Amino acid sequence: MQSLADVLRRLLHMVLPGECAGCGTALSDDPVPFFCRPCWAGLSPLGGPACPRCGRPFASPVALTFSPDHLCGSCRQKRPAYTKAWSLYPYTPPLRDALRLFKYRGKVALADALGRLLHSSAMPQRLDLLMPVPIHSSRLREREFNQSLLLADRLNRRLQLPLSFDNLVRLRPTVPQTELSRSARLKNLRRAFAVLRPDDVREKRILLIDDVFTTGTTVNECAKALRKAGAADIYVCTLARTI
Ligand SMILES: [Zn+2]
Ligand SMILES: [Zn+2]
Repeated sequence: MQSLADVLRRLLHMVLPGECAGCGTALSDDPVPFFCRPCWAGLSPLGGPACPRCGRPFASPVALTFSPDHLCGSCRQKRPAYTKAWSLYPYTPPLRDALRLFKYRGKVALADALGRLLHSSAMPQRLDLLMPVPIHSSRLREREFNQSLLLADRLNRRLQLPLSFDNLVRLRPTVPQTELSRSARLKNLRRAFAVLRPDDVREKRILLIDDVFTTGTTVNECAKALRKAGAADIYVCTLARTI
């Protein structure tokens, strides 16, 4: 007898494209929408030496051999506002294709599979609150969902933490970063986030979730707003990182 899950999966495949978005082979009973089993199984997590503060991969493990707390150049120059950030996968195909389908083409059917990838992450000992990086209300209207909230929700099936998604808000829409120089981008993001109810984050250890870590500016600005509101620690877990 077929389970309900099998039936639903088959129905889902009827309305989904028949080819893997990673390699183009025909899909059949592959468990992840849009991707064949070998492509998804081939996702390889980041595991090399990295800056213990911002997660920037180090070219060689030497930096950490004698001092495990060795920070990368940019963290030494200016300490991030967050306590620690880490990413699970490189932002490369096929995960990059999956995240683009998910975020820009509204393929929310990928939320479960992408969220499950976060389940493998080691987590800090004690956390009080889970928060997605917010998107601006105009972007939310256009996209109809916040991809980071969906990821946080799926991760929370494991963590079971209070999930806060309307306290940290984005005050200004982002201009696509490709259109801006680095300094203009920093300026665009400065004070772009605010905490509406500081009492709810005061003294809290917060886990912030986002899909992709690029320069880290976005999560750092979120962390600044949370620190200003009195948060004790801000940990930043992102699914992918540009390398
Ligand atoms: Zn494939
Ligand atoms: Zn660093």
